[in-house]
Amino acid sequence: MLNIVIFGAPGSGKGTQSELTAKKYGLKHVSTGELLRTEIKAGTELGKIADSFISHGNLVPDEIMIEVLEDLIRKNLDQKGFVFDGFPRTLPQGKALDLKLKKNGTDISAVFSLEVDEEELIDRLLKRGKISGRSDDNRQTIESRLDVYHQQTEPVKEYYAQQNKLTYIKGKGSIDDIFKSIEEVIDNLTDG
Ligand code: ATP
Ligand code: MG
Repeated sequence: MLNIVIFGAPGSGKGTQSELTAKKYGLKHVSTGELLRTEIKAGTELGKIADSFISHGNLVPDEIMIEVLEDLIRKNLDQKGFVFDGFPRTLPQGKALDLKLKKNGTDISAVFSLEVDEEELIDRLLKRGKISGRSDDNRQTIESRLDVYHQQTEPVKEYYAQQNKLTYIKGKGSIDDIFKSIEEVIDNLTDG
């Protein structure tokens, strides 16, 4: 399998680049944020729990997210691979993902960290808030999300750097140019 992680702060463009990557390489796009928003809209038990964390800019607890993720992997083992968008967001999530893939005879192929400066992130999220209707795209929640990112999520980069799987991508610029730098790395992997 070809398994890619698209990593980055809120508003860094993970969703956009994940979609392009999944489409070009025929992979299953797994966005935990989208999945949770679908559950919230449907008013499920998971949705209610998730909403109580998301609307405050907090992460949904690891034990819940890991179960959701394992379930998703289990159901999609016939796919060519995955693009993980918004997962892992903590070190325990990263370790659980590695273990689950290993149990199925595969692993993470590459991790891309979309690097965007804080000012640009806030600007993008505030703009998105005007049209997205997302309960977490307002100034106060954005600040919490960025704090949570730095404290809990950013350390995951080091975890993948130690495995020699991390590539930093300049996340500012045209969508096409950003995707080109991702493609270059993936094409090198698949060429052998
Ligand atoms: P981007 O704009 O780059 O797509 P984002 O941070 O705006 O990123 P999502 O990835 O859609 O948005 O996630 C939205 C929220 O859902 C997060 O702030 C968090 O509360 C919750 N969430 C999503 N994935 C996870 C996860 N793996 N662990 C814990 N909480 C998660
Ligand atoms: Mg997203």
